[in-house]
Amino acid sequence: MIDVIIAGGGPTGSMLAGELRLHGVRVLVLEKDAEPAAYVRSLGLHVRSIEVMDQRGLLERFLAHGRQFPVGGGYFAAIEKPVPELDTAHGYILAIPQPVTDRLLAEHAVESGAEIRRGCEVVGVSQDEDGVDVELADGTRLRSRYVVGCDGGRSTVRKLIGVGFPGEPAQAETLLGEMEVTEAPETIAAVVTRIRQTEKRFGLGPVGEGRYRVVVPAEGVAEDRSVPPTLEEFKRQLRACSGTDFGVHSPRWLSRFGDATRLADSYRVGRVLLAGDAAHVHPPLGGQGLNLGIQDAFNLGWKLAAEITGQAPEGLLDSYQGERRPVAAAVLDNTRVQNLLISTDPTAQAVRRLMAELMDFEGVTRHLIEKVTALDIRYDFGEGHELLGRRLRDVKLTQGRLYELTRSGRGLLLDRTGGGRLSVEGWADRVDHVVDLSAELDVPAVLLRPDGHVAWVGEDQEELLDRLPRWFGAATATATA
Ligand SMILES: Cc1cc2nc3c(=O)[nH]c(=O)nc-3n(C[C@H](O)[C@H](O)[C@H](O)COP(=O)(O)OP(=O)(O)OC[C@H]3O[C@@H](n4cnc5c(N)ncnc54)[C@H](O)[C@@H]3O)c2cc1C
Repeated sequence: MIDVIIAGGGPTGSMLAGELRLHGVRVLVLEKDAEPAAYVRSLGLHVRSIEVMDQRGLLERFLAHGRQFPVGGGYFAAIEKPVPELDTAHGYILAIPQPVTDRLLAEHAVESGAEIRRGCEVVGVSQDEDGVDVELADGTRLRSRYVVGCDGGRSTVRKLIGVGFPGEPAQAETLLGEMEVTEAPETIAAVVTRIRQTEKRFGLGPVGEGRYRVVVPAEGVAEDRSVPPTLEEFKRQLRACSGTDFGVHSPRWLSRFGDATRLADSYRVGRVLLAGDAAHVHPPLGGQGLNLGIQDAFNLGWKLAAEITGQAPEGLLDSYQGERRPVAAAVLDNTRVQNLLISTDPTAQAVRRLMAELMDFEGVTRHLIEKVTALDIRYDFGEGHELLGRRLRDVKLTQGRLYELTRSGRGLLLDRTGGGRLSVEGWADRVDHVVDLSAELDVPAVLLRPDGHVAWVGEDQEELLDRLPRWFGAATATATA
């Protein structure tokens, strides 16, 4: 039997497939569309996702296709402020169009041994005690032990398992497309600068090969957002907003998106789970949705794999929702705030001015940028050291770097006590023990989960033995014998 069927081959589904394959789990990705989407939603990766790619040895291929930009304060409601140095080895934004990200993640999943079947729309899901039956639009039936719905904001899987998706419906809609222009670049830049002083949902930026990415508020909210807008609609809205349509012509693709904000009531019903946009949607402010989905997959992969291999301790799989749903709720909140701050309403503009003043305080800007880049995440592992529950940044070791040692997706004990005092015997099949006197860390030892979050800090073997089973399950029989 297939272990996991993933519905949806977007970035979340492909990332999850790659993570599951690290642990030998048999994965099948079912993707509705026969061909990958050409239309560019996400424009890049934030710090934490860049770190995640590094932790899995994928960063080189992303760097080869992206451009690095300094992390700018403009990532919070487009309020430009200098950003303080962040606690990371990757303090930049990696600009990379979503179709490239999607392709790189899909290639990695396939190289790792996952199968991706295109042109396969999931229309039915029903589960029993032992597995899940999946029905495709062409009548094909498949069965797996688990199903994960990574099928986007309008998730069929979420609806089929009856999970509510409460929140706010779209109040405003934005047109987005790629096209050519006849207007001179300097005129375009001048008009864009003038209009963006008050209307942040407006923009024309060159994307190469003579094309521009055009963003402009729509007249209203479309009944069916899957119907793309026309070029005429773009021209009309550009004129209404700026007095000119810039001579736009020859569109490559045209689309629309709304500002609906919704969070799934539950991320799991029995053997069916949700991840990525299937579990949360919000306006694309700050560029967080794809990053959030990739990080959902990074959190879920090793837990679901442990469940399948029989090594998961009680409650491990449910900790996926326990950890990731509050993270998504926080992202929804920060996009709600950003949505308000970009409004042209005079009261909202006054709040924006006040926020801009507050962002002159370094602590405020740091707080906001750490939210958007997901560096602020601290899972609740209980009381303890300040690192507990946080991801550990990459550190230089005597030989190499920490993130180079995390590519297998196993747990890791980084031991600076000099060796001999600490041991992971009994878990050596799941947890690596690295003795290194790295000067960059100032704690005696840290236990990292496969997603790089700190599960324990200390130097006491008894304490460590208490922590290991919580994340990695029971010790193997040979060790306890
Ligand atoms: C204009 C815009 C700009 C954005 N900019 C950014 C940004 O800069 N940074 C950022 O992080 N995020 C950004 N986002 C958000 C980002 O695009 C999404 O959060 C991300 O694509 C979610 O990934 P996903 O894999 O969860 O879902 P999706 O990318 O939606 O993928 C879901 C996949 O499931 C497939 N599918 C759907 N139904 C079925 C079914 N029944 N059976 C099988 N397959 C199915 C779909 O065809 C699709 O391929 C932006 C979004 C928009 C609209």
